[in-house]
Order: sequence, then C-alpha cells, then structure tokens
Amino acid sequence: MAALIDDVSNKFFDYIIVGGGTAGLTLAARLSEDPDSSVLVLEAGEANLDDPNILRPASFGSHFSNKSYFWDHLTNKQKYAGDRQNGWQRGRGLGGSSGINFLCWTKPPARDIDDFERLGNSGWNWKNYENCLERTEGFVDPSDKTKTTYNMNSDNWKIGPLSLAFPATMDEAELKIQQTFLNSGLNPAPHPILELSGIGREDILESIGVPMIMDLPGVGENVQEHMFIGLSWELKNDVKFDTLDLLRDPVMAAKHLDLHPTGSGLFTTGIVGFAFTTLDKVTSQAGTIYQYIKEMISDMDPETSPPGLMEQYKIMLERFEPGKGSPGCEFISFPGLLSHPNPPADGKRYVTILAATNHTFSRGTIVSPTVTVCAELVSVPLLIILMEIKHSTSSNPTKDPEFDAHYFEQMVDLDIFTEMCKFARKLADVEPLKDMIVKELNPGAEVQTDEQLRGTHSRMLRILCLGLIGLIRRLDKSHLRYHLAYCKFLLYVTFGERRGC
Ligand SMILES: Cc1cc2nc3c(=O)[nH]c(=O)nc-3n(C[C@H](O)[C@H](O)[C@H](O)COP(=O)(O)OP(=O)(O)OC[C@H]3O[C@@H](n4cnc5c(N)ncnc54)[C@H](O)[C@@H]3O)c2cc1C
Repeated sequence: MAALIDDVSNKFFDYIIVGGGTAGLTLAARLSEDPDSSVLVLEAGEANLDDPNILRPASFGSHFSNKSYFWDHLTNKQKYAGDRQNGWQRGRGLGGSSGINFLCWTKPPARDIDDFERLGNSGWNWKNYENCLERTEGFVDPSDKTKTTYNMNSDNWKIGPLSLAFPATMDEAELKIQQTFLNSGLNPAPHPILELSGIGREDILESIGVPMIMDLPGVGENVQEHMFIGLSWELKNDVKFDTLDLLRDPVMAAKHLDLHPTGSGLFTTGIVGFAFTTLDKVTSQAGTIYQYIKEMISDMDPETSPPGLMEQYKIMLERFEPGKGSPGCEFISFPGLLSHPNPPADGKRYVTILAATNHTFSRGTIVSPTVTVCAELVSVPLLIILMEIKHSTSSNPTKDPEFDAHYFEQMVDLDIFTEMCKFARKLADVEPLKDMIVKELNPGAEVQTDEQLRGTHSRMLRILCLGLIGLIRRLDKSHLRYHLAYCKFLLYVTFGERRGC
C-alpha cells in the first residue's frame, strides 16, 4: 500500500527499509509474507504506479531528462577520459533503477557469482543464487507463433512472481543479427545514508563530524561501472526491419503510441540479441593483455593496496586467462541508432551493436552527503538501508554527491575496450548482417587505427554535444525529450585521452 510520510510518522514498524528500489522492494515483499510483521519502505521518489512511461518497453532512456524518474547525477571530471563529466543515472521512485532500466533479464556466469564467496562472503554462491532465481522467475508462455519460430519448448518453465516475457515485437532481422553473432563464433546468450548513520571509514566519518557506530572501510569505495560503446550501420532500404529510428518521425511515434495498448507496434520492442564471450575469442591480443594484468598484480604492494583489491584482481586475472576465462565481453544488438558522433540521416534506419565490458580494473569512489533520513520520524527496531553506498563530503544532507568513476585509470580497461570495439566492427563482415547493411555510420570510415579509435572516440564525445544541440533544434518539442535522453545515455561511454590521444 502506498502512503505519504505523514501517514506513517510516529508509527511503529518491525522493519523499515530505506530505498524502494529493486532490492528494497524484493526484501519488503519477502518480509511482509509474515502476516505478523509490519514493514515500511521509505522511498524518496514518487510512487509512479501504473505509469505507462515505465511500463512501455521501448521508452528506453526517455526517463533520463525527467526528475520524476531519475537522479541526475554527474561524475566529476574524469582524468583518464578527457577530463569530461559523464551522466550517472539512477532510478528514483518505487522500483528504483528497474523503473528506468532496459528491462533485460540476463544472468551472469556461475563462476562469477561463486567468486563473491571466494572473496570471503559466505553463502554468496551460484547454488544459492540459482535457488533465489527459481523462486523469482515467472516465464510468460510465448505465443504458438513465437514458439514455432524460435523452436521453444516452455513445458518446464517456472511460474514465479516476476513476469518475464519475450517482447511482443521481435523482428526477423533481429534473428539475423543473432545469427551473425553465432557465425562469428560468439555464444548467444541517490543519496547515501550509511556514512551519515555512522557506518563507514573512521577518518571520513571524523572529517564530517559524524560519530562512528561501525568502522566499515569499504563504504563508498571499490566502485565499478560497466562501460559500453555503440557501433552503428545504415540498413539497406530493402531490408525489412522496423527499427526504433522510425520513431524519429513524430507522426510515426504517435501512431505507435496508439498501437501499444493493443500489444503491437514499435513500443513493444525489447532488446533481445545478447552474446557473451571470453577475451581470447575477441582478440589475438588476449595473451598479451593477460600477461600485462599478471605483471600489474605482481607490481602491487600488499601493504599499501586497498583491502581486498589484490584478491579481486587475482580472481579477475583468471577470468582473462586464454582458454580458461570467463565470458565477460558482452555484445548487444540494438534495433536502431545508439551511437555517436555522426547523427542519423533523414529517413534512414540503422542497426547498432553495443560492446560492453563487465570485468573492469579501475576502481572509483562515490562521495556524497545524504538526504535527511526519514527514519527519524518513525519508531524502528531494525533499519535496513538499500540504497547506493557512498562517501560523505559533508554532514549537510542536501549537498550533491560526488561520483568519481576513475574511468580508464587502469590502462588495461581501455585496451580491452578497444579490442572489443574492433571485434564488434568486424561483425559487419559476417553474414547475414553483412548482407543487410550499406555502410558504417559510427565510429565512421575515417577511424581506422587503434590510436585513431581511441583518440577519435575521445573527441567524438565533444562532437556529440554539438551534434546534440543541432539535433534538438531540428526536432519538435514532443520529440525533444526522447533525443535528449538518448544522447545523455550515450555520454555513459567515453574513450580516454590516455596514451597521447
Ligand atoms: C539505465 C540503466 C539500465 C539498466 N539496465 C539493466 C537491464 O537491462 N537489466 C538489468 O538486470 N539491470 C539493469 N540495470 C541495473 C539495475 O536496474 C540495478 O542494478 C538495480 O535496479 C539496482 O537495485 P537497487 O535496489 O540496488 O537500487 P535502485 O533500484 O536504484 O533503488 C534505490 C532506491 O533508493 C531510493 N533512495 C535513494 N536515496 C534515498 C533516501 N535517502 N531515502 C529514501 N529512498 C532513497 C531511490 O530513489 C531508489 O528508488 C540498469 C540500470 C540503469 C540505471
């Protein structure tokens, strides 16, 4: 039941959960299965219940310019990524980031989950994780047509509380891109309160004048973000593929909005093409990169390295070992343009392949004050905090957080990313994608060597910002939000100016 803060002030609850995001609501649902327990979830954002902007799948990124749905965080200047500031979007409102995410249900490799336990977190292993998944997943039976087309047998599919479905619209052309993945050898496949509550690193708590309750040095540290970059190709005019590019036309967008309640049209589109692979399948440089990581670890001083970092790196080294690694290199097909710096041409359709890294060596920090903890208003025997864990720069709860991602601080992240980008580019030479496209739009024909790739990507972002302004001028108001959001989304990804680029 959704309530306002006045409704719960000065009331007693057995549990209070701060943050009504994915984790907070999952926990609340479990705790409230006990009829004798009362559970309160305190969420800083709005309820956004039954909101079509959230429920409509292909509204990808449209929330990013709207503070009803997200926290518009920015990183501070990124030293190894051209001194730029990047957007760091997080969901706001019931559902948290799952309200603005891209609705993709993918699972990590089992050994990646087991690695949490190897690092000393008892019980955090694949077996337990899988048990939880089995209790959660509720697959929606696809239509007979979908089953026949994709050769599916859903007889043993689970029926859990979280509904998972194939998108109503799946284009034949997307299947072809998945086939390209196969043919190329790929496997398809806010504000913190912990520190202000006195839980965190002693020196930080002291510097902001907060009495320490628990010395927990990891709070606000070891931040890792997965990075991605989009490569786009123009589709031939005769290829039958209704990509999201069609929504750039306001008349077409309105038509598809009307179609959505009937379970058809482009707004039912999902992202369905994923492939995960090991670095040695991506590049012949995998052995050299592996050796580099090995040397990097042996050069580390255990006395001065942050606690646990060497142990993490040693496990990550295994993930990059040629012939034995873990599939952390992710390639995603996107039905439309999701790249920069070159803007789309009028009336053209595009297909994008995103290269995304999942195992990065750079480690950031999140330094932040917090909002006033609503828990002061209620009596609570157990307070559960399920928001991002960040450092505090001040005890002033209204001050903005500082996100420092340290993108590409470890050069090997840039090396891996560049190799993945080169691999994704080569997919254009693999059938059936090869047969569907006219030419590469981004990064573009003028970008050929590794250094150009790194350097041009660095400059691309600046061009993107200019291109964005040009693009917006050409759009009417109703369409502006989509593009603004979309381009901010692209700012997630940057190549650094490291190595003289
Ligand atoms: C753009 C984007 C795309 C993504 N795509 C995918 C995807 O396709 N598939 C996938 O599996 N994952 C995806 N993710 C990741 C996934 O959404 C998150 O990992 C997940 O939602 C995190 O859950 P959480 O509960 O930890 O945090 P969140 O869901 O972010 O919840 C935190 C909540 O705390 C609230 N809050 C913050 N401060 C306070 C306060 N002081 N008092 C009260 N409430 C507060 C926030 O408003 C928010 O609702 C994506 C994330 C983003 C941002």
